[in-house]
Amino acid sequence: MSAGVIIVGAGHAGGAMAAALRQNGYADPITVIGAEPVAPYQRPPLSKAWLKGEAQQADLLLRPDSFYAEKSIGLRTSTHVAAIDRAARTVRLADGEALPYDHLVIATGSRLRKLDVPGIATPGVLELRTLADAERIRSAIRQGVRMAIVGGGYVGLEVAASARSLGAEVVVIEREQRLLARVASPELSAFFERRHREQGVSIELGASVSGFEARDGQVSAVRLADGRSLPCEVAVVGIGAQAQDELAVQAGLSCRDGIVVDELCRTSDPLIHAIGDCTQRPLPRYGASMRLESVPNALEQARQAAADLCGKPAVKSDVPWFWSDQYDVRLQIVGLPRDVASKVVRGDPSVGKFCVFHLDAEGCLQALEAVNSPGEFAAARQWVGARQIIDATRAADTGLTPKQIIAAPDQPT
Ligand SMILES: Cc1cc2nc3c(=O)[nH]c(=O)nc-3n(C[C@H](O)[C@H](O)[C@H](O)COP(=O)(O)OP(=O)(O)OC[C@H]3O[C@@H](n4cnc5c(N)ncnc54)[C@H](O)[C@@H]3O)c2cc1C
Repeated sequence: MSAGVIIVGAGHAGGAMAAALRQNGYADPITVIGAEPVAPYQRPPLSKAWLKGEAQQADLLLRPDSFYAEKSIGLRTSTHVAAIDRAARTVRLADGEALPYDHLVIATGSRLRKLDVPGIATPGVLELRTLADAERIRSAIRQGVRMAIVGGGYVGLEVAASARSLGAEVVVIEREQRLLARVASPELSAFFERRHREQGVSIELGASVSGFEARDGQVSAVRLADGRSLPCEVAVVGIGAQAQDELAVQAGLSCRDGIVVDELCRTSDPLIHAIGDCTQRPLPRYGASMRLESVPNALEQARQAAADLCGKPAVKSDVPWFWSDQYDVRLQIVGLPRDVASKVVRGDPSVGKFCVFHLDAEGCLQALEAVNSPGEFAAARQWVGARQIIDATRAADTGLTPKQIIAAPDQPT
């Protein structure tokens, strides 16, 4: 009997991959192995609706628990894969059991960067990657609790917004001189800084954390490198993530800040695909390869790898996109701001509805950041992929609809 496919990692990519294999008619056994105690679920709500108590655990699941049995997908939760033996075509579980595969898919995601400072293990110093992490944070949030958030990236700011809306007193501590410094334009950083301050969040920029202080065995303050101590009863550290690619490295697969894959998600071993946050993937639109940490990427790679395994035509590749929800703000970003020669702001940041167009030297749209502007975002998804040349004056003209931005002046619109 065929050993079938083993998927290591029961997250967004691994769960979607199992479903896509069955959709593509794959009839041999499928086993999904995940270290967490739950079936594949969505992480984005963990810092948003779920943290605010607006979603239940069942709402997070990618598919109901019954789906896996119905589709004859073996789901092994709370199970850690310790090693891959490529010669024997097996994976070894933490308890020593060896499971054979015909084909392996690595979907191990990313892990949080650790802040290496004294007191990091103090009770009350939390982080957010899993549902269990989110449960700890949710149970710590209450009216008036003082919460320090270390890291002004998307996850940190989303937690700040959710906690603030539940009445917590929040301070965000960011080492760089602006929020979202690695992932957003200065225009966007300034907008989110203002929005958080308006909501009563304190923000410390250019501030480095040197340790955590404790009282009665519980965190009591965050210590900064400039000598100040910021009192808190709970701290959440969110300073980014890195590829969880150790299994692949140990198995001798080609890795470089993630598992190196091609456009079909094939690794350097023809019997192994890799998908999701753990991959270093090509982005032909930008002539580059990089690691993407996003749900759209996980879903696209799952569909791509499933099609490849089933001998189906390649799935059309999308340009990278991402979203973040904070207060009443929906941010949507499409593309990557590479080789940017100029930027155009459309709309008015002070009323919370605007876009930033990132153009290269030829005026080609490389990326768009859209704040509460779904029409512009939808249009830009097409334009970035099509390398659309954008006229800066028309882009800035809010009297034109998004579609009219690219219509020639003498064309009926
Ligand atoms: C709080 C939060 C908010 C987010 N918000 C957004 C958002 O708004 N928009 C967006 O696009 N993206 C968002 N993301 C990112 C998005 O969730 C990830 O890009 C996505 O989950 C990647 O899917 P994945 O399957 O590659 O990895 P994961 O979902 O991380 O799944 C990997 C799984 O593999 C398991 N695993 C790892 N190693 C082993 C092993 N050796 N044995 C067994 N199991 C193993 C892990 O336990 C994990 O369950 C957010 C992430 C977080 C944490």
